[in-house]
Amino acid sequence: METQSERKVVLSAIQPTGTPTLGNYLGALKNWKEMAKDYDCFYAVADLHSITVRPEPAQLRRRTLEMYALLLAIGLDPEKNTVFVQSHVNAHAQLAWVLNCYTQFGEAARMTQFKDKSEKHPENVNVGLFAYPTLMAADILLYQAHYVPIGADQKQHLEITRDIAERFNGLYGETFRLPEPFIGKAGARVMSLQEPTKKMSKSDTNVKAFISVLDDKDTIVRKIKSAVTDSEARVYYAEGKDGVNNLMGIYACCTGKTFDEIEKDFAGKGYGDFKAAVAEAVVEELAPVKETFDRLIADKAYLNDCMAKGAEQAARVANKTLRKVMRKVGFYQL
Ligand code: ATP
Ligand code: MG
Repeated sequence: METQSERKVVLSAIQPTGTPTLGNYLGALKNWKEMAKDYDCFYAVADLHSITVRPEPAQLRRRTLEMYALLLAIGLDPEKNTVFVQSHVNAHAQLAWVLNCYTQFGEAARMTQFKDKSEKHPENVNVGLFAYPTLMAADILLYQAHYVPIGADQKQHLEITRDIAERFNGLYGETFRLPEPFIGKAGARVMSLQEPTKKMSKSDTNVKAFISVLDDKDTIVRKIKSAVTDSEARVYYAEGKDGVNNLMGIYACCTGKTFDEIEKDFAGKGYGDFKAAVAEAVVEELAPVKETFDRLIADKAYLNDCMAKGAEQAARVANKTLRKVMRKVGFYQL
């Protein structure tokens, strides 16, 4: 068995902006759990990121605790991996400021997420929303991560992270490891159930557009039943059949079946039968997560204890990178 220090490092984070969706689960969290077996993993609740949309303070607090409990509920072991809350480790905000000064305005302005989110919240296009990629770069680079398991929507952010790291290394010598994205095949991009050309998002204001990992059976059945499809009533994967393609992707991810197998299984059947099968597969996939979550969320003392340990472990690694950066940039050392 490899020792802790020989293992490759993985970093990933999720914002406490709502209960994770099936998209977050299939696109990211399921991979987190897989990778936890073979890598030295750092998993964060990205609360600093989430204030770009100005949540209610009480809601942010509650969602942070819930997201943390959920990470343990999906099967992450806080003893074997570092599971922590981003704002508990000061180095994230500190490195982000430094990286802001090594990132060009034009680079940040090209980010699709910035464009999407500023359209969604035209009344609050704040500098934090714009600088989001440099904070994300700091999250990753602090841990010298080899891999970052993400959904396809975050690929651009990983590219800018690599660009910033390369630029810094070029100026000051090897400081940061260049991280590679790790994008699982199926589930990399789960689409909205109501507008299947857009990705499923936990911050969507239309709750019918997403399935939350804590939705109960009836809710899941209802949401999938009302998912937008098309008028053809035939189950097969094809360009333009966004709604059906999405349901097929979800079904494939939950059952391990290929698209060919799914087409055969549902030949001659309509969307009603197909949707019922998809709902059943999703319920089966999510039921154990919900059960464990309900148990953990009732034990705040245990969660606080895990959080404190996680923050301490994360800070130890992060501060090492931060000190190196501060020295190289020329900050006066005491
Ligand atoms: P928000 O709307 O607040 O940005 P989000 O649903 O996009 O929420 P994030 O916290 O931004 O969630 O992302 C967490 C992880 O989930 C990231 O790795 C991201 O790539 C992945 N992810 C988000 N949405 C999807 C999706 N629809 N399909 C697959 N993966 C996704
Ligand atoms: Mg997002």
